[in-house]
Amino acid sequence: MDHPIKYNRVLLKISGESLSGEGGFGIDRDQLHKIAQQCVDVQKAGAELAIVCGGGNFIRGAQFTQDGTFPRTTADYMGMLGTVINALALQETMETLYPGDEMSVRVMSAISISRVCEPFIRRKAIRHLEKGRAIILAAGTGNPFFTTDTCAALRAAEIEADALLKATKVDGIYDCDPKTNPDAKRFDNLTYTEAIDKRLKVMDMAAFTMCEEREMPVIVFDMGVPGNILKVVKGETIGTTVGV
Ligand code: UDP
Repeated sequence: MDHPIKYNRVLLKISGESLSGEGGFGIDRDQLHKIAQQCVDVQKAGAELAIVCGGGNFIRGAQFTQDGTFPRTTADYMGMLGTVINALALQETMETLYPGDEMSVRVMSAISISRVCEPFIRRKAIRHLEKGRAIILAAGTGNPFFTTDTCAALRAAEIEADALLKATKVDGIYDCDPKTNPDAKRFDNLTYTEAIDKRLKVMDMAAFTMCEEREMPVIVFDMGVPGNILKVVKGETIGTTVGV
């Protein structure tokens, strides 16, 4: 049976790493294509889709400055620019997969790069969604010392998304790392307080707190399985749902 859409307006957080191939650096065409296809399918199904891209496949500010020789602020700006590269790649690929007016994708950046993409303006972003365009929100929050997870929660709140979808390489939230512990237990549901108290390394505390204040569900799931993003949008129970 085909499920109707449960979450009409979603904010999808994609990590930079998910766009990379082996080695975790740069953009792998095959990965990019697979992710873009899933995004297009969500769009075709009629959901309003806003995407926040990470930039960890290029630079993570905190890691780059670990030895203390490089200013954190500069490294963070480099990281934010990395997210713009990812956003442009995803935009182009989505539009190639679904040519024509139906699939218009706009990149909106928190840092002004007017020759390359639009600036992020909340009311414009919502208008794009209402007109059936997907939006890719680049350059994080535009501020150093933040992550794109926090940005995803912030933008989800700003555009009044029905849910924040956190796409990962793991099929949900576990009580410990399932890669190193075969007895790791996966949660189907968690409250925000549980997610925060357990200090699960799936999303920043700031991001969870922002979602909690708005009672916005956060769904953590494996994007590596084709069709999973659409399944989540349709409310099928996969991954872990963090909510009230
Ligand atoms: N970043 C930042 N401010 C933001 C968002 C991102 O300074 O609002 C920088 C930060 O250095 C971060 C990098 O951009 O490490 C890439 O983002 P992130 O690590 O969140 O990407 P992901 O892990 O999701 O690929």
